[in-house]
Amino acid sequence: MPEDLEGLKEQYLRCVRCGQCRSVCPVFEAVKNETATPRGKVFLAHLLATGEIKANTQVQAQLSRCLLCRSCSKECPSAIPVHQIVSAARAELVCRAPSPVKRMVFRHIWTRPRRLALAAGLTRQIQILGLDRLGLSLGLLPPGFALPGRLPRRAARATIPAITPAAGKTRLRVGYFLGCSTNFLFPGVAESTVAVLSRLGCEVVIPPELKCCGLPQLASGEADAAVNLASANSEVFRRLNVEAVVSDCASCTAALKESPEFAGIKVIELSELLLELLKEYNPGLQQITKPVTYHDPCHLSKAQGITAAPRELLRLICRDFREMDGASDCCGSGGTFALYHYQTSMAILDKKIAAIKKSEAEIVATSCPTCIMQIRHGLTGHGCEIDVVHTVELLERALGRET
Ligand code: SF4
Ligand code: SF4
Repeated sequence: MPEDLEGLKEQYLRCVRCGQCRSVCPVFEAVKNETATPRGKVFLAHLLATGEIKANTQVQAQLSRCLLCRSCSKECPSAIPVHQIVSAARAELVCRAPSPVKRMVFRHIWTRPRRLALAAGLTRQIQILGLDRLGLSLGLLPPGFALPGRLPRRAARATIPAITPAAGKTRLRVGYFLGCSTNFLFPGVAESTVAVLSRLGCEVVIPPELKCCGLPQLASGEADAAVNLASANSEVFRRLNVEAVVSDCASCTAALKESPEFAGIKVIELSELLLELLKEYNPGLQQITKPVTYHDPCHLSKAQGITAAPRELLRLICRDFREMDGASDCCGSGGTFALYHYQTSMAILDKKIAAIKKSEAEIVATSCPTCIMQIRHGLTGHGCEIDVVHTVELLERALGRET
């Protein structure tokens, strides 16, 4: 079980309010309000724990203004895990004053693959009928509802076999953690992941009984639901006896790696595994000729400390790889953050879009489906025709499949 507020007491009491975390918080930069600073949230969590403030909608709103991007936790000279304190404070709020709607979504729908698939199907029907556009124009739906765009006709799980053999000699048997965003929003990314892994000598197993990684539940304060999901998923992989578990979603990989339930299971981040396989296997690669830049997902760079492998991979396959300014700055996605705080999310995204434009790249590569969704939304809004893809899709092109 993740630490609760009481368990984190020693941590939040160490905050000396130096304010160093303020300078790196994208939410504070966008709203310029002290209550939005990381130290403000730590203080709020402290007051909540001591009972000096009540769990009310105002406190809820303030604690929801966090992307859990971890920039502050990384920057803090006292190594205070601000993101954990915010998550624990949200769990405390859920305990004291649960929201029936959020509970329904995060606990009763998102944790059950069939219900989630039904919800995705219903959303697609709403989109086909144009009811989403109507709801958005009448202000009945939050503007962030437009972010995913039209959902694909079929989810990845409906088309990709449970077992894909290695294209040649089997070097590794991997379990592919096909997360919710990739499954419902970007089935093409899942297809590329499976195709590339197979081409590079992996037998790829996608257990049909896999559930959500638990990160949306943890972020929304449903900590025990997150633990149950991790427990169920880890059991599935243990039974399969795979050599490693891999995911193309930075958030899922971070959640699995940090989950105590996954202790003893080797979880590898996709770009690190691909790089290893490419070096060993040395297949012929066609160079991508268009200029490419890279966006670091927070859950890859800050949560897992992985920044070199995706760049090394891109340099192998791209003739013109170029860095953008602030590549590791958050794009403002933060899971469901844009649903609740669309304007703030877009203000954060604007900075990212400006950096992409300045780089003059024609393709943006990244390693997280929600970052792809967010950056595509921003580029479309700015009228830019710049492609946003997952790194693995570029590798598939380099390996020979033109798309
Ligand atoms: S940087 Fe750390 S110690 Fe300083 S105010 Fe922020 S959380 Fe507190
Ligand atoms: S996790 Fe990110 S958004 Fe949340 S307080 Fe820290 S820097 Fe700000």
